[in-house]
Amino acid sequence: MQTTFTPAQLADPHVAESEKILRKCVHCGFCTATCPTYVTLGNELDSPRGRIYLIKDMLENGRPADKETVTHIDRCLSCLACMTTCPSGVNYMHLVDHARAHIEETYKRPLTDRAVRALLAFVLPYPSRFRSALKLAKFGRLFSGLFEAVPGLQPMSAMLKLAPAEVPPASPVATPGRHVAAGEKRGRVAILTGCAQPVLDPGINEATVSLLNRLGSEVVVPEGEGCCGALVHHMGREEQALAFARKNVDAWMKLVDQGGLDAIIITASGCGTTIKDYGFMLRLDPAYAEKAARVSALAKDITEYLCTLDLPEPAIQPGLAVAYHSACSMQHGQKITRQPKELLTRAGFVVREPREGHLCCGSAGTYNILQPEISAKLRDRKVKNIEATGAAVIATGNIGCITQIASAAKMPIVHTVELLDWAYGGKKPAGVPEGRKL
Ligand code: SF4
Ligand code: SF4
Repeated sequence: MQTTFTPAQLADPHVAESEKILRKCVHCGFCTATCPTYVTLGNELDSPRGRIYLIKDMLENGRPADKETVTHIDRCLSCLACMTTCPSGVNYMHLVDHARAHIEETYKRPLTDRAVRALLAFVLPYPSRFRSALKLAKFGRLFSGLFEAVPGLQPMSAMLKLAPAEVPPASPVATPGRHVAAGEKRGRVAILTGCAQPVLDPGINEATVSLLNRLGSEVVVPEGEGCCGALVHHMGREEQALAFARKNVDAWMKLVDQGGLDAIIITASGCGTTIKDYGFMLRLDPAYAEKAARVSALAKDITEYLCTLDLPEPAIQPGLAVAYHSACSMQHGQKITRQPKELLTRAGFVVREPREGHLCCGSAGTYNILQPEISAKLRDRKVKNIEATGAAVIATGNIGCITQIASAAKMPIVHTVELLDWAYGGKKPAGVPEGRKL
């Protein structure tokens, strides 16, 4: 794609990066076929190619974001299916991240939208605030009908619908500390405890620590780590996202310097995609660029890391058919497609892959709150395809997908690592059947 940025515009490194990306796009439109919003809405402006044109126009003319551009960028899930499909290697992720930051800087959203976004950014990345908010949701449900009826407040209703009826107690693995390997120590890793995940489902990190310890890895929960920044990054709140990133880099580099780390284990693929991008996000910060790149190189999804270990024979024969839902951040963001399925198969599960596996379930960070209608359509389509597999349980590697799919599916859904922990001698995940004839 030809561009006409001026030398003065290109002096801004963010614009220069986006220009490089824009020039790679050859308008072929292959990406439209796999874009969930184009497939759902059928509007070119809700396709990757359409959004790329809107972003180009906005940046090239150096103008503030307008309502139309914001509408179509807001509808993008950041699922990155377009990047998997694109034959020209267009880095849509970095382009849309830049566009979102530009929108945040130059566009004044309606009051209710601003209030909802500010609330999400204030609550979700902080486990203690999120836990309190979930407890308050019980009372908030009384006003659900009101939120539904007031224009601009539908996200509040969507948020209340997603909130679980009960909030599990905080887990001991969510506090900083060292979990020693059982038997001979074969490695040392840090784990990202995360923000929303340990509140919604503490069993995921518990299963991870338990499995890794039994496999000989010491697991450290570092002092000072927090949200990876993805939630606010996708809302265009660049400075807040970078502050989270710097805090985590400091926490993990301290461990690297004091005893070394084999990996930083991540159990939510949405976080994994962002942490693997820290090197890019902090590239312009001389104090952090190198450290952030090291952190990104150390970041591993739990399934990636498990594939590097010497696994024993499974302790049980679960004999269950598992529908594996590959989160977008797993398959498109991190290109991890093979490892989770191989691990499940090796552990004695029969993996079934739902149709249209490339399409997003509609979760996408805060998307199911901010865009509840499109999100619900994608969720229902996903659940129909998953249920058609006839599997007994759904496995996936991202808490957002677990919450989203669980809100409509009739079958249990768990994190992949919970099934692996069970198969290798750990606790059976709640709600999963004992086993069933295949
Ligand atoms: S990230 Fe997903 S929703 Fe956004 S343009 Fe790409 S394919 Fe479409
Ligand atoms: S597939 Fe790639 S090159 Fe083709 S229109 Fe989409 S982004 Fe551009």
